[in-house]
Amino acid sequence: AQVFPKPKETRIIAVANQKGGVGKTTTAVNIAAALAKGGANVLVIDMDPQGNASTALGIEHNSGMDSVYDVLEGRRTIADVKQVCPDFPTLDVVPASIDLSGAELEIADSPNRNNLMRDALTKYLAEADKHYDYVFVDCPPSLGLLVINAMCAVNEMLIPIQAEYYALEGLGQLINTIGLVQKHFNPTLLVSTMLVTMYDRRTLLSREVYAEVKNHYPSIVLDTTIPRTVKISEAPSFGQTVIAYDKSSMGATAYREAALEMARRSDQALEAIAIKRGEH
Ligand code: ADP
Ligand code: MG
Repeated sequence: AQVFPKPKETRIIAVANQKGGVGKTTTAVNIAAALAKGGANVLVIDMDPQGNASTALGIEHNSGMDSVYDVLEGRRTIADVKQVCPDFPTLDVVPASIDLSGAELEIADSPNRNNLMRDALTKYLAEADKHYDYVFVDCPPSLGLLVINAMCAVNEMLIPIQAEYYALEGLGQLINTIGLVQKHFNPTLLVSTMLVTMYDRRTLLSREVYAEVKNHYPSIVLDTTIPRTVKISEAPSFGQTVIAYDKSSMGATAYREAALEMARRSDQALEAIAIKRGEH
């Protein structure tokens, strides 16, 4: 496998978009798998009560099992609940189960409610027996407390954008929320990456969506687009990323290229390209 350049410091990245079904989870698990395959130590934190990232990475996540829910509520540490992805020995996973659906209400009264994930992750990264190159947080489709916790815990946002008619609708709201988090809680948060997913190069619509995103966010959107393929959509039913399920497929190739493009964006380049506070 190709060896990707590694970041000097751990890059902590939330994959977010309040729209459902745009490819957040698919992107989080496949980029994470591609980077792990490329030699990186990677942690994926599933923050969605649906637990789709856990499923796609072949991780058990039944109700009642130790999961991210127990981490947020302070009963367990990340070290206690993490599991290793069966397909990639350098890819660790913090699973989510349906138990997490109660968490937003349960943490709402906590004075530290926005920073529960940040505190747990900071502690874990400081004490872990290895250095992580990347941490990905897969967010649920909302702008609630779970997503705010993710935004407070990370340095970068990766926003997947589905190549469809209403692609940019709602993006302004997401960018505004990120701006509020930057202003009040996490001044170093950067929107570093956008990725156009479910792209069909035969259609004018897909090309128009890409052109529009590129026009609005020229240096943030990746050159690579992710095609809509059957292999990508069927891999999770085997508990696998498409990187493991069919490594020579178009979908796996596209996610590897997207991961390489992300890996090549150095720390300085990220500073220069990202949307910073007040610039949007
Ligand atoms: P989100 O996490 O944003 O809700 P998912 O990643 O779960 O979105 O994707 C929604 C659905 O679309 C899933 O069934 C997934 O398998 C499918 N899907 C995502 N990306 C692709 C793609 N590039 N090609 C085909 N199906 C895809
Ligand atoms: Mg999802």
